[in-house]
Amino acid sequence: MAVGDKIRKEAAERLKKEEEFECPDPTTDRKLNTANRKVAVAEYSYGPSDPEEANDGFWQEKAEVWGVSPSKAKGRKCGNCRVFDITPWMQDCIQAASQSDSYIKESGVQSGYCRVHEFTCAATRTCDFWIKGGPMNSEIETEDIEEAREEGEL
Ligand code: SF4
Repeated sequence: MAVGDKIRKEAAERLKKEEEFECPDPTTDRKLNTANRKVAVAEYSYGPSDPEEANDGFWQEKAEVWGVSPSKAKGRKCGNCRVFDITPWMQDCIQAASQSDSYIKESGVQSGYCRVHEFTCAATRTCDFWIKGGPMNSEIETEDIEEAREEGEL
């Protein structure tokens, strides 16, 4: 197959995937999105509440949870977490739901969809569950994560 044909075929497949993509429930149900965020805060210490502050205590706690230095902990954020979904089709889904988070709304920071805790989270926050290798920005990664969830690995 010629290179041009391959690119066209891939583009057509991608378009089909985007058209068939269904937004997760929390992205269309603000109450559910907020409820899931509260669970992430309570059970996985999602935060800090104001990422613009130094939050030394918060990062010290994360350093202890992860067994790394505080400066290394500060580099582990939703924005580079493996399950921070910022695929184009997910971006379309989360625009309204992101507005239920006053920090995201007011700061304009990048938001994504957390595939584990299932809510719209801010690139500048983090949680105990942080996973190396993100963000997710391709359909292949979306499929990987969905498969892992179905198999109970996440
Ligand atoms: S699992 Fe990752 S994307 Fe989800 S809240 Fe935690 S750090 Fe953020």
